[in-house]
Order: sequence, then C-alpha cells, then structure tokens
Amino acid sequence: MRPSPRLSVIGAGLAGSEAAWQIASAGIPVNLIEMKPLMRSPAHHSNDFAELVCSNSFGSHSSDRASGLLKEELRQLGSFIIKIADRYAVPAGGALAVDRSKFSKFITETISKHPLINIERNERKFLPHEDQIAVIASGPLTSDDLAIDIRAFTGIEECHFFDAASPIVEGESIDLSLAFKASRYDKGDADYINCPMNKDQYLAFRSELLNAEQAEVKGFDKESATFFEGCLPIEELAKRGEDTMRYGPLKPIGLWDPRWGDLQDKELRQAKRAYAIVQLRKEDNDGKLWNLVGFQTNLKWGEQKRILRLIPGLQNADFIRFGVMHRNTFLESPKLLAPTLQFRKRKKLLAAGQITGTEGYAAAVAGGWLAGTNAALLAMNSEPITLPKTTMIGALINFISGNQLEEKSSQKNLFQPMPPNFGLLPDLNRRIRDKRSRYGAYRDRALEEVKIIKKAMTNPNLIEPIKK
Ligand SMILES: Cc1cc2nc3c(=O)[nH]c(=O)nc-3n(C[C@H](O)[C@H](O)[C@H](O)COP(=O)(O)OP(=O)(O)OC[C@H]3O[C@@H](n4cnc5c(N)ncnc54)[C@H](O)[C@@H]3O)c2cc1C
Repeated sequence: MRPSPRLSVIGAGLAGSEAAWQIASAGIPVNLIEMKPLMRSPAHHSNDFAELVCSNSFGSHSSDRASGLLKEELRQLGSFIIKIADRYAVPAGGALAVDRSKFSKFITETISKHPLINIERNERKFLPHEDQIAVIASGPLTSDDLAIDIRAFTGIEECHFFDAASPIVEGESIDLSLAFKASRYDKGDADYINCPMNKDQYLAFRSELLNAEQAEVKGFDKESATFFEGCLPIEELAKRGEDTMRYGPLKPIGLWDPRWGDLQDKELRQAKRAYAIVQLRKEDNDGKLWNLVGFQTNLKWGEQKRILRLIPGLQNADFIRFGVMHRNTFLESPKLLAPTLQFRKRKKLLAAGQITGTEGYAAAVAGGWLAGTNAALLAMNSEPITLPKTTMIGALINFISGNQLEEKSSQKNLFQPMPPNFGLLPDLNRRIRDKRSRYGAYRDRALEEVKIIKKAMTNPNLIEPIKK
C-alpha cells in the first residue's frame, strides 16, 4: 500500500507553530514549511518562528477578560505557544507581554529539535495535493503566489484582500437616549443604530479628524490604501471636503427618530432633521457588538477612542476592536470553513490563524491548536472535534465559520476579522447586571467546559502540556 504522505503545515507563525506542535505531540510526523528567510513579508523581520510582528503583548492576563480567558483555555488544553509565552513573560501590568526575541528563539529551537517535525525553509506557492492532510497558516501577509492559488481554490469572491477594518463597540455601551434604531427609509427591520449630529457637532468632529494623529503606515499599506477608493479611511474622507462625509457614510437622509415627531410634518422635518448621522451595524445576531459603518481608519487607537466618543450616543462607548489598516488576506470563512477549521469542500485541508479571520496573537494560537489537533485526529482516522460556543475559543471559531451568522447571504458578505470578546458567548441562564461579575460567570462556565473537553479527548498526547 502507498504510504500516506506526511502532514504539512504552511507558515511557522503563531498558528502554524502551534499546529505543528500539536500534530507532532500526537505522535504524527509533520512538515513545517516556512518561507523566511528566503522571502519575507513587509512586516516580518526576524528568521525565527512565531514572530510577533508588532506589539509584544498577548493581551490581558486576567481570565475575566476575553483574551485572558482565551489564553487560560489554551493553557488548560496544553498550548505550546502560550506555555512559552508564560515562560518569557515580562512585566506589563495586567497583560501577558513577552521578551519577543527570546520567545521566538526558544520556539524555533524547540520545534527544530522535535524528532517528528521536519522544517522546510521554502515558499510554498501552491496548496498541497488533495490527498494530503494540511493546515494553511500563512497569515494575513500570505505570499502572493500562494494567495493566488488559495483564491483559485476558494473562488474569486471567497478570499478578501482587504486593507481596512472599522472599529467595533459594545452594544450596551451605546446611549440610546441620544441614538436611535432605524433603517434608512424604514426599509426592513430597524437594523441600524443611528447617532445624529447637528451642524456644530459635525464640524467639531471633522476638525478633530483633520488634526488627529495617524498610526505609522508601512510602505505597502500606503500603496494599497490608494487603490481601495471604496474603503477610504474616514480621516481621508474628512480631508477631501467639508461635506464629503455627509454625502458618504454620514449621510443623514432617510433616517428619522420617531421621538422627533411626525415624519410627515414638513416643517418639523426641516427643523429636526439631523445634519449628519453615524450608523452602526450589528456584528452578531444578538446585537452585543456594533460596527461603525464606513469608519475604517488609520488613526492611533488613543485618538480613535477620544474622537469617536465625540459622536452623540458613543460618549461612553467601550471599544471591542479599533480600526486598523494593513494588508490583510483573509478567507470568507463563514462560507468556506466548518467549525473544525476544515474546508467544507476539502476535508483534509484545514486553515488556522489570522487568515481565517480571527484577530490577534492569542486568537491565532487558538486556531493553530484546533487545526493541529484536528489534523492529527484526521491522520488517526478519528473524528475532528469542535469546541462548544460557551468557551471563548469555541465561540470565536464558531463565529468565523458562520455558525452564529444568520443564513442571509447578504450578512455573510459583511464578514470582517473578529477578536475574542464576550459578545460572542451565548447568554448565561441568569441575568447578572454587573459586567465584571458577568464576565466572571462566563469564565467559570467556559473553564468547566474545557475540563469536560480534556476528559473527552481520548488521546492524552493531544492535550498533554509540553514537559519542562
Ligand atoms: C502589520 C501587522 C501588525 C499586527 N499587529 C498585531 C498586534 O500588535 N497584536 C496582535 O494581537 N495582532 C496583531 N496583528 C494581527 C495578527 O495577530 C498577527 O498577524 C499574527 O501574527 C497572526 O498570526 P498567524 O500565525 O496567523 O500569521 P503570521 O504570524 O503572519 O505567520 C504566518 C507565517 O507564514 C509565513 N508564510 C507566508 N506565506 C508563506 C508561504 N507561501 N510559504 C511558506 N511560508 C509562508 C510567514 O513568513 C509567517 O512566518 C498584526 C497584523 C499585521 C499584519
């Protein structure tokens, strides 16, 4: 009988390194293919694996914060990368930050010494053969040739090459005494939250945008930003003219707050009509997360918080994600992936990390853990696992694989990268008003689930933490 080809993992970033480790820990040989140092994306600088391309922080330590809970779940499940992050932690207040060079060096050395991991330093230009079990973990800056092949495999509409994302705020932090729910021209349900501005508020807001500090933009971003006319940053629209935003994403026409009185009364309409309106659109079915429509931005995060809180209704907004601008290759995962991270149309092919539309370092590790675990299970002819939505990892992966989106294709087309956050978790069976206590209860429920998962997994090698 023809021996089955070795498993492969493309990309030795955070997701790929974790995936390769989980596969090898299950006793299965794996090829880990990394293009550095022969080729490098504009954001990668070192030759080591699991390079942190920007900040050295994996986010909050505290398990009653979303990224803290995600990391705690990963710890319990035996994540290799989180174990090493803990080992090379540096003081950073409430966050898990690491000494990035020691962290990546140790990971590279440990993986390179593993007897079941074969390292190939090469750019992989094509997807592996369909008989082969493989994990794509080539990240948001996947090399061009591979990105083209992925696009050919998934279909041209199914793979984004996006350069911008708008901020997301928590629904319960929006002040509905100032904002109101409605759709433009009352079409369909009142699906949007609308934040009306008068002329003075609009002009003051624009003036702050014009003077705001921009985040550093690397050369490749500048180029792509000029190409994407359809998704210009809001500060760029502000620059183009006093009224440009009012004729674009802040268009007020067709939006009326019933509290202003009778829409049919012409005089009233003239007097009360908003000068500009910022719209927010639901990110999830329950309306816990809201995206500022058309607000892709390259402002520094501190500036975003300060300026966007000038919008009436958002004065106390809690930001789940800030707007970012960089090249970002991510799959239209809700259409393409199952919650096991297998491609629906090719079960032996899996994906992990930022390319699946999760956002952030810890989330990339989580995808790597699940895809690696499932690739190993497939190699052992076992059923791949999904994680329950009550865990942070499960909620995030279920979200990106479309399990929480409505079947409406229009909504699926709006897919944007998502970081871990409590808005993704199903409600508790009791109401807890205090946010911190509520998040604590989410955590307790999630960690109980993780205990059950650990027990249920039959192969102890898959979850055994790395030995010191
Ligand atoms: C500029 C930028 C800044 C970011 N800053 C942060 C931040 O501060 N904090 C945060 O939490 N998240 C940040 N992110 C988001 C995200 O968390 C990181 O991109 C994270 O590194 C994603 O992990 P990954 O494993 O999916 O991809 P990566 O870590 O990018 O790993 C992918 C690996 O695949 C390799 N590769 C690519 N193509 C090929 C190929 N064809 N063949 C072989 N190898 C290939 C790459 O060289 C790389 O080593 C940032 C993203 C970008 C683009």
